[in-house]
Amino acid sequence: MDEKKNKIILWAYLGVMFVFILVVTFVGDDAPHSPAATDTHNEVAMETHAASKGTVEAAAEEKHHAKAGVQANETEVLPAQEQEDVAKDASHAATTGDTAAIETQEAHAVADTAHEGKDPFEGKPSPDEAISLLKKGNQRFVHGESAHPHMNLARLLQAGSENQGDHAYATVITCSDSRVPVEAIFDAGIMDIFVIRVAGNVCDVDERGSIEYGLAHVNTPVLVVLGHTQCGAVTAVTQAVLGHGHALERNIPALVDNIIPAVKKAMADHPEIQGEDIIPMAIEENIWTGIEELFMESPATRNLVAAGKVTVVGAVYDVGEGTIKWLPQEKSMEILKKVEENPDKAVIE
Ligand SMILES: [Zn+2]
Repeated sequence: MDEKKNKIILWAYLGVMFVFILVVTFVGDDAPHSPAATDTHNEVAMETHAASKGTVEAAAEEKHHAKAGVQANETEVLPAQEQEDVAKDASHAATTGDTAAIETQEAHAVADTAHEGKDPFEGKPSPDEAISLLKKGNQRFVHGESAHPHMNLARLLQAGSENQGDHAYATVITCSDSRVPVEAIFDAGIMDIFVIRVAGNVCDVDERGSIEYGLAHVNTPVLVVLGHTQCGAVTAVTQAVLGHGHALERNIPALVDNIIPAVKKAMADHPEIQGEDIIPMAIEENIWTGIEELFMESPATRNLVAAGKVTVVGAVYDVGEGTIKWLPQEKSMEILKKVEENPDKAVIE
């Protein structure tokens, strides 16, 4: 009897082990096909390749490759998408692919609003009025007369219960630099400014997405692309282009590579200026290249500007004076016109 009992226990044990092995085999087999595993593989490959180069320009090349990888993955799940020119136009197509779903949603939202006959910018200041609010706020700040509007408990309670889209009047993208505290320099407060801060105020895909949110969903009538004097990101890239850059941490080259074309253009436009004296021009050029990149990759932004709902303006903040040099608005419109004529611009809404 004991022997029979032992046999039953032994078979039960073997049965449990068999099921366990099946489960482990199933999960283990699935893992290599998961996107996370693919990403890790790509990252390892990138890291190995980048480590062998380690320059800002090498990082630009790596980012291009990474975007091409994203595009390659997308074509598997989006068979209808055109697969030609992948290598040539990888970053452009990847961006449009990434944002297509969101932009479709956005188009529906706009259509819904139009159907209801309500302009989402209704009740907001005009673009010129919004720029005037920013200029006056900066004047108060510079003269030590900040009024600190909308920085009280009443505004806080309002923020918790109302839609920021009914209040915020500007989207500002600027540098992460601690000397550029956005609300302070415009003497603004809670629910006034939709802010994007990133080293070198670059307009890469995450920043463009944030800008689109600020313009199309928070309905701010103005976008300020705000560079600043003594920008460390522009300085680092200038030094790299001049051939005396220093080693940068793993993620920085890919972040600041958008600034390379600005530095090179500033150098080409001002051959009389030598060495790091080009930095102030590069800071200004970085604003224009950022605006061009935004227009190239954001049909939503182009449409809002063309419709007169939004004005895009460049400006440079002086970290020692607190003043802002407002760049000519006409130049933003010239860049928009140039982009509209460019067949390579992103078009999927
Ligand atoms: Zn900076």
